[in-house]
This record gives sequence, C-alpha cells and structure tokens, in this order.
Amino acid sequence: MKQGQPREYDVIVLGLGVIGSAAAYWSAKRGARVLGLEQFEFGHARGSSHDRSRIIRLSYFTPAYVQMAKEAYRAWASLESDAGEQLIFRTGGLDIGPRGSPVRMSEHVNSMRDCGVAFEELDAAEIRKRWPCWRVGDEVHGLFQPDAGFVAAERATAALRRVAVGFGATLCEGTPVTSLRAAAGEIDVEAGGRQYRAGKLIVAAGAWTNGALAHFGRRLPIQVTKEQVIYFVPRDPAAFTLGEFPIWIWQDEPSFYGFPIFGESKSVKITQDSAGKTVDAQTRGFEEDTGITTRVKGFLERYLPAALGPVDLVKTCLYARTPDRDFVIDALPEHPNVSVAVGDGHAFKFASLIGRILSDGAIEGCDLTAFTVTRPTLSRLDAGEDDERPAANR
Ligand SMILES: Cc1cc2nc3c(=O)[nH]c(=O)nc-3n(C[C@H](O)[C@H](O)[C@H](O)COP(=O)(O)OP(=O)(O)OC[C@H]3O[C@@H](n4cnc5c(N)ncnc54)[C@H](O)[C@@H]3O)c2cc1C
Repeated sequence: MKQGQPREYDVIVLGLGVIGSAAAYWSAKRGARVLGLEQFEFGHARGSSHDRSRIIRLSYFTPAYVQMAKEAYRAWASLESDAGEQLIFRTGGLDIGPRGSPVRMSEHVNSMRDCGVAFEELDAAEIRKRWPCWRVGDEVHGLFQPDAGFVAAERATAALRRVAVGFGATLCEGTPVTSLRAAAGEIDVEAGGRQYRAGKLIVAAGAWTNGALAHFGRRLPIQVTKEQVIYFVPRDPAAFTLGEFPIWIWQDEPSFYGFPIFGESKSVKITQDSAGKTVDAQTRGFEEDTGITTRVKGFLERYLPAALGPVDLVKTCLYARTPDRDFVIDALPEHPNVSVAVGDGHAFKFASLIGRILSDGAIEGCDLTAFTVTRPTLSRLDAGEDDERPAANR
C-alpha cells in the first residue's frame, strides 16, 4: 500500500478465535471500522476456542484474577443481551482436593474473601452428602462457589462474530495474514492476496502468535501443547444433569476437571489439565493421547466412578502457554498501535473482557500489570520452562 493512502479500517483483528472475535465485537460496538481476518474457517478445530463448554468461575488464586472474573461476567452479560442468547450457565463450581495438595486452596479462599465473593468451605462429609457420587475420603475438602459454571464456548464465539458483524464489522474466514508492516502510525496488512491499512492492529493469534509477531521482530516464549478432552457416557446419567452436578476442578497435581451433561450428547466432559505434549501448531496431529485417557479413567475409577461409562468422544485442542501461565494483554512497546493477547490455557472465561480491554485500553478495577509484554518472565525463561505455579489455573 502506498504512503499517504487513506486507511480503510480503524482496527484490524488478526485471528478470530474467541479473543479476536471479542476484540472485533467490542471495537465494532464502540463504532470503530473493524476488519477481522481468520486463516481457517470460522469455528475450526485447529486452535483453542472450539468445543461446547469452558469453565467460568470467580474462584481464583489471586484477587486480581477474581476481580477480572467479576468483570468478565459483566462483559459476557453484555454479549448475551446483544445476542439475545444465553451463553453463561451457572451450575455452581466445586474446587476439590486433598488437604496438603501443592495447589493451596487457601489462596482461593483469601482472594475470594478480599473481593467479597460468596462461597462455602466444605468438608468431605458435606461433599459426599451433596453429591453422593464423589467417593472421597476425609482427607479431601472443597470450596463451593455458586456463580461458577461454564460458557457455551462455540456458541459464544459464534455470537461474538455475529453481533460484531451486526455492529458493522467485516469478518473474513479462509484469509491468512501473510505480511504486517508498521509505518507512520499506520499498519499495513496483507491477507488473502489483498492489502489493507488500519490505525491499529490487534494480534489474537493463539498458538500462531509468534508467526504474527515475527513481522515486528518480536518473539514470546510460548509453549504450544496438544491437550485433550474426553466425553464419557456416565454410568449414572441422572447424577450429572445440568442443575444436579456442578463444574468441578480437582485441585492437586495432577489436576482433573469436569462438566455436567450439556449439549447435544448425553455425556460428561472430563480431562486432566495441562497433560498435553508440546507440538507445533502447523504440524500437530489430532490423534488421541491414550496416556491421558488412561489417567483420567484411573482418576474416575477412584473418585467418581458413576461418571466412568463408555467413551463417547475425544477432542484435541491447543494451549498457548506462557512460562508463568499469566496472560499477555499489552501493546508492543516499539509499536503502541499493535496490541497482542495470549490466553494461556485459561482465558476463555475472560475472553469477552479481554476483547473489551483490547478495544478500550485498561478497564477500571482490573490490574493488568501481570500481563505485560515486558515482564521479566517473558524474557528470562524459554518456552517450556515453568515457574512454580501448579497446573490448576484454568
Ligand atoms: C482443552 C482445553 C480446555 C480449556 N478449558 C478452559 C476452561 O475451562 N476455561 C477457560 O477459561 N479457558 C479454557 N481453555 C483456554 C481457552 O480455550 C483459550 O485460552 C482460548 O480459547 C484462547 O483463544 P484465542 O482466541 O487466543 O486462540 P484461538 O482460538 O486459537 O484463536 C487464534 C486464531 O488466530 C488464527 N490465526 C493465527 N494466525 C493467523 C494468521 N496469520 N492469519 C489469520 N488468522 C490467524 C487461528 O487460525 C485461530 O483461529 C481451554 C483450552 C483448551 C485447549
């Protein structure tokens, strides 16, 4: 594109998974001229945002995340109202695990207390009384948070795109971005054989983030892993229906999590968190990791046998992990009109809020200092090298 030619868009969003779709939604809602570019078909299963459900909860290990989660519920409510569709399902959420686990639930307790969030502490007897299918001994305890539940994931991402288009955004699928150039306060973008110019670029490319950032000479230590979820037809389906059973997270190492029955099938989704192997987003396969399936079955046999029926479905999905498992939500210091968001393995619940932050800048009440591009962990550690944070971050 020639120097001096007028920009056609205020904002170009690179990548239309849940975060890019949310950035397009909020930017278009604010009246910006928005172009969204997605390399594959909308709703594809090669990235991080497909499948039926993602946990949303206020129970987090720092007040900053709890505060953000509160804002995230508000951001989703705005979308539900614009879309005329229920996307958040409050099932209640159970954090459960052995006392003495490396995942200190006391951090969740303190963070929720700090932020005035309602929750209950449960001993094993109370857990067994409320949900008799949990076969846990007295060494286990839990936290119950009534607002937790799940986002209807694929539907939410589709709704973000649909409403963004309703607000005037142009969204293109099958349109890989192949070149990016920042010059004189404008961003020139080449995609699908065409040239575009915008005042601002939002990079929401998940596992492909470094491919996009390479155009600006920047690289983040992102580790891409192939995770897997397993749908089981429960032995006792009545115990796992929506309204009967909460979402749950086994807060230990390893960590497991699960959902009640939802969607078109009669199965429960359960898996081990952060169990996947490192892959390349371009060359990864979609095959089942039988090691994960075996570990999940072993866990269910021991603690939740009523859920362990035949396997209905196995799906794979990518995590784009940062070394400290905190997000990246920031502008590039050398190009303040280029923003980037990386969601690690737990950003779906926050995605509508992250989209709003990307379109608005900082949001009052949200402490974004942990999410900068320039934080020391992003320059100190190589991809794959973890800090001490236990896996159960989702
Ligand atoms: C198994 C699994 C379970 C999870 N569970 C939870 C949960 O319970 N709760 C929770 O909060 N979070 C959860 N997450 C995390 C959450 O799903 C992700 O953080 C979130 O989906 C990340 O969204 P994204 O938009 O950044 O990435 P993606 O959905 O991968 O989107 C990035 C998009 O950018 C596109 N793109 C990349 N490069 C280009 C290019 N050059 N040109 C055009 N397009 C491009 C890609 O094709 C892709 O569509 C889970 C993730 C997985 C994998």
